[in-house]
Amino acid sequence: MDHCSKTSCNSSSPFDCLLFDLDDTLYSSKLGIAEALRKNIDDFLVERCGFPEDKAPSIRVELFKTYGSSLAGLRALRYDIDADDYHSFVHGRLPYDLIKPDSQLLNLLRSITQRKIIFTNSDRNHAIMALKRLGIEDCFDQIICFETMNPNLSKSSSPDEFPVLLKPSMDAMKIALRVADVDLRRTLFLDDNVRNVAAGKALGLRTALVNVPINPLVVKSKKKN
Ligand SMILES: [Mg+2]
Repeated sequence: MDHCSKTSCNSSSPFDCLLFDLDDTLYSSKLGIAEALRKNIDDFLVERCGFPEDKAPSIRVELFKTYGSSLAGLRALRYDIDADDYHSFVHGRLPYDLIKPDSQLLNLLRSITQRKIIFTNSDRNHAIMALKRLGIEDCFDQIICFETMNPNLSKSSSPDEFPVLLKPSMDAMKIALRVADVDLRRTLFLDDNVRNVAAGKALGLRTALVNVPINPLVVKSKKKN
């Protein structure tokens, strides 16, 4: 990495910058973090919003489908939920020890000389915690996260005054790309969510859908042909 200048290394690459999603992209969705997160959100819906326990999972799914996240949905429905309070409840108590240092990922990231940026819908504390657990917190030039896309939430006079902005909304994507200040055509965006990748592509980013599970039915039908 040290023997060539950034410019000469990049001249052979189509990319100047890589934008990485974090959750389920830089660590596996199978560690149990996503499962614990769902449980914490359900607990939040019951304890803080008063939804019946047996309805919480379906309400969570419905809020996610309609508004992009439970927090976004609750605020849109005028529940006065403070974002920091929500994040410390649902992320702050995650079993982070399930995320282990990933030396293979560290070496891979160290071998990439281009700018590397985290672009996540999660809050900054969660992003830093997960990156530290993976041992890759020093590999990134910038973290673009929930707070970056939603700087005005704490100033709102009512919960629905400012909609919560998250990937894949175009407004959220545009804010993030403005902050990142990248050349879209020379930036590779990696994310495990197909809608996020589609939004990035629509804005002119080069994209890669990562962590796609192999669908046995697709494999089977290909074999038949
Ligand atoms: Mg993800």
